[in-house]
Amino acid sequence: MPTTVCPNCDGPLHQADHYCARCGQAVLGDGSFRSFVEQFLGDYFTFDSKIIRSAVPLLIEPGKLTQEYLQGRRARYIPPLRMFIFLSVIFFLVIGWSGAGTDGQTPVEELGDQLWWDRFFSSTLPKLFFLFLPLFALLLHVLFRERTYTFEKPFIFSAHFHAFVFLAFTLYGLISRLFIQWGWVKVNALLISLFLLYTLLYLWLALRAVYPRALVPHSARFLALLLCYGLALVTSSVLAVWLMR
Ligand SMILES: [Zn+2]
Repeated sequence: MPTTVCPNCDGPLHQADHYCARCGQAVLGDGSFRSFVEQFLGDYFTFDSKIIRSAVPLLIEPGKLTQEYLQGRRARYIPPLRMFIFLSVIFFLVIGWSGAGTDGQTPVEELGDQLWWDRFFSSTLPKLFFLFLPLFALLLHVLFRERTYTFEKPFIFSAHFHAFVFLAFTLYGLISRLFIQWGWVKVNALLISLFLLYTLLYLWLALRAVYPRALVPHSARFLALLLCYGLALVTSSVLAVWLMR
């Protein structure tokens, strides 16, 4: 017998419940100072710990979050699509703020181009990534298909991988801004190469973890994926640029 009802959805609550079985809202405390502090701070810190718990493996453990998701361990991490959208917003904010290509000394006659590039970076490119996400999943589906097929596998992998790219290059944008301020131009050139290399290594390792295969067939699929995806990125960017002109 329910002992009370959920104030959020009117569903039945039982004495031992910590959460409403129907809507998932946490059962409210008894109004004491202690239960207030627990709930108030708990809301903040569970979100906060989820971010750390998701961001660290996303950055340094290729394929881990995808495997965790596919094995059903989901609630402890930020959902893949939300992570992708959140990190893409942060990425384009940081890129805009660190001024991709702007030096503040651009001649007036080149400002047209500058504005155009700003628009491409701040508006067109973020939208394109919503096409790149399913496109990458489609390529995975074709190239890495397995006998036991699930549709969510390539899609979750794609969301996690792109979220990683956004997170890594947000960090790159922040570090490179410092380096440029300090006048370390050569170190900065080295830095972008390191980040690109790490991204390739990460993709290689993540694919090996999620789609285990022998080295040779894995390498062949990896190269085919890079080639097709690179081609698709260039083609769609050129197309978008052409449509914008
Ligand atoms: Zn409820």
